[in-house]
Amino acid sequence: MQTTDRVLERLRNKEEQLWQNPALAPCAPFDCPGADAARDLFARFAPCIEALFPGMTEGGRIASPLDEIPAFARALAEKGCFALPGRFFLKRDDSLPVVGSVKARGGIAEVLTHAERLVKASGILPEDASTAAYATPEVQAFLSRYAVEVGSTGNLGLSIGTMSAALGFTAVVHMSHDARQWKKELLRARGAKVVEYAGDYGKAVSAGRASCAGDPMRYFVDDERSETLFWGYAAAAKELAEQLAAAGVTVDAAHPLIVYLPCGVGGAPGGVTYGLKSIFGDAAHCFFAEPVGCPCMLLGLSSGKGADICVQDIGLDGRTEADGLACGRPSPLVVSKAGRMVSGVYTVADERLYRLLGLLYRTEGTFIEPSACASLAGPVLLARHGWQLPEGVAPENITHVAWSTGGGLVPGTERAAYLARAEL
Ligand SMILES: *Cc1c(COP(=O)(O)O)cnc(C)c1O
Repeated sequence: MQTTDRVLERLRNKEEQLWQNPALAPCAPFDCPGADAARDLFARFAPCIEALFPGMTEGGRIASPLDEIPAFARALAEKGCFALPGRFFLKRDDSLPVVGSVKARGGIAEVLTHAERLVKASGILPEDASTAAYATPEVQAFLSRYAVEVGSTGNLGLSIGTMSAALGFTAVVHMSHDARQWKKELLRARGAKVVEYAGDYGKAVSAGRASCAGDPMRYFVDDERSETLFWGYAAAAKELAEQLAAAGVTVDAAHPLIVYLPCGVGGAPGGVTYGLKSIFGDAAHCFFAEPVGCPCMLLGLSSGKGADICVQDIGLDGRTEADGLACGRPSPLVVSKAGRMVSGVYTVADERLYRLLGLLYRTEGTFIEPSACASLAGPVLLARHGWQLPEGVAPENITHVAWSTGGGLVPGTERAAYLARAEL
C-alpha cells in the first residue's frame, strides 16, 4: 500500500481529512483472553487500589461513567455543523480515578502485573493473601529495591509513576519537552523521579529503554511495544458494552456503534478497538483521531510502512496543542494487531480542538483536555468527508461514542487558560 498523493498532500499541509482504511477486514466476534485477564487483574487488585488510594475510588474499581451528551449534539446541529441522528455518548475516561486519563487502564494493569510477578516469585506473601497486603510496609520495602521506568508525553508517566511510586517502586519518568509542567510537578509530589529531555517523545522513550537495558532490577514500560498495556486498554470494551446495554442501546448490523478514539502511539485506541471488535465484530466501527500536526497512525497505516515511518519523514515537526497525542511514530504492536480493525483515521486542527472544548463546556458543563476533544470532532468530520453508512442502516439507529481520554487532573489555572483560549 502507498499513501496516495492527495492524502500525503493534506498531511503535509496540515489539512483536516478522513482516511478510510482499505485494509479493513470483515470481523465476527471472537474470544479475547488478554482483555479477560486484564479484567480479572483489576478485580483481583481492587482491595490493593482501595488501600493505596483511600476514598479516591469506588471500592478500588478503575472504571468510568458513560454520559449521554444531547445538549452538545444539539448545539453542533444548531451551528449547522451536522444534524446528528442517533444518540451521542461521551465515555468519561477523563474521570478515571487517581490518574484522570485513559492511561489509568493500561498503566495500572502494567504496574500491577509486574508487581504481582515479583511478589509471587519472592514468596513473601501467602498464596491466598488479599491484594490489600500490597499496601503494607513489608511488601513496599521489598518492591523499593526495584525500579519502574517509562517514557511519556505526560499522561502515561502520571499513570505509571503514580502507581509504581504508591506500591513502593523507585519510579522514574522520562518526559519529552511538550509534557506540561504541572504534570511533572504532580509526579514529583507523588514520589516519582522526573527526567526531562530537550527532544521529543521518541527520544524520551529511547533514553528510558537504554537506561533499563540489561538490568534485572529495572523494568521499562514500553509504550510502543507492551502487550500488557494493550490488554489493559482492551478491557475497557466490556465495560462500555455493559453500559450501552444498561442505557438501552442495541448494537448489531442494523444498529451500528461508531467509536471515536484519540490516538497517540495507538496503544489506547488500538486496545479499545481490539476489545470492541471482539465483542461486536462488524457492528463496531472504530475511528482514530489525530491532530493535523502529528498524524503518525494515519501516515503509518496509509503508507503500509507502519512503524517504519514517522511524521518527521514527511516534513512535519510533530508539534500540537494535543500533548497527549504528540507521538511521531505509531506503535508496531498496534499496527499489527489492530491495523485491519480500524475503519479509518481522521485529523483535527488544533483550533477545532479548542472550539469543541469550549462547546462541550458550555453545553454540558464538562471540561476535558484538548487531546480528548479530538474524539468530539468525529461525527462532523465523517459527515463532511463522505463516510458512507453501511447499506440499509437508518441514521437514527447509529450510536456514537466519543472517547474522552483525559482532563480530570488538569489544575484550575490551566483549565481557565484552556477555556479562555476556547472562547477566542
Ligand atoms: C495517551 C493519550 C491518548 C492516546 O493514547 P495512545 O496509547 O498514545 O495512542 C489519547 N488521549 C490522551 C489524553 C492521552 O493521554
